[in-house]
Amino acid sequence: MKELTDQELLRYHRQINLRSVDIDGQTALKNACVLIVGLGGLGCAAAQYLTTAGVGQLTLVDGDTVDVSNLQRQVLHHDARIGMNKAESARQTLAVLNPNCQFEVIPRYLDESSVLSLVAAHGLVLDCSDNLDTRNLLNLTCFQQKTPLVSGAAIRFEGQVSVFRWLQDEPCYHCFSQFFSNSSSANQGQSCVEAGVLAPIVGVVGCLQAMEALKLLTNAGIPMSGQLLLIDGLSGQFRSMKLKKNSSCAVCGDGARTNSYSEIDTP
Ligand SMILES: [Zn+2]
Repeated sequence: MKELTDQELLRYHRQINLRSVDIDGQTALKNACVLIVGLGGLGCAAAQYLTTAGVGQLTLVDGDTVDVSNLQRQVLHHDARIGMNKAESARQTLAVLNPNCQFEVIPRYLDESSVLSLVAAHGLVLDCSDNLDTRNLLNLTCFQQKTPLVSGAAIRFEGQVSVFRWLQDEPCYHCFSQFFSNSSSANQGQSCVEAGVLAPIVGVVGCLQAMEALKLLTNAGIPMSGQLLLIDGLSGQFRSMKLKKNSSCAVCGDGARTNSYSEIDTP
């Protein structure tokens, strides 16, 4: 366990002052290793706060390159980075924000061949992706390895956040996505290209993902697990729904025998 240096004690003083963080929590952040999948709008927002808050090691995964149409909401990228891999562009910005933080860049999309070893090497995963295939793949792998997962989605003026700790009776993402497939656009796999997205909604969702991640890592407060937070930016309403495990879920239900992503029925 790496101890905090004098310089870090000063840098993180306002956070160490919080009773539920304290030196122990800040030390846990320094020793944490977090996987961020997707360095678009959600990933940019989440990664900047995990970096400045003092998470010791971040792995950034994205196979996409920066496009001019990303710059409206993906705040770690800028004009000079157009054409650059998003994970690398994010690393360059984040490295300036906090030189204490170590970064690993995986400039590829997550797939079945890489997901197992990546999740196994990290204590916490943030799903900041923009498609159902990646969400299902991360949900299944994190469930199998019992690695906590913080999930976010945003489209138009709407957002969703949830946390999965894999405790008994808590639902998994697949329980959610089936339930919401007909009623919530943020989960349907619709893209921001077709539907549009207002810049700050990805910031709201990404920041909430960072907050849940920091709570899990420092053991502070009550995680948002077993529930789904729905954000409606147009009306300014936040609504939290408690959700139960789906007993017939292909991933976490009774008798589920799903060992590979291809066996999941995508809703
Ligand atoms: Zn499930």
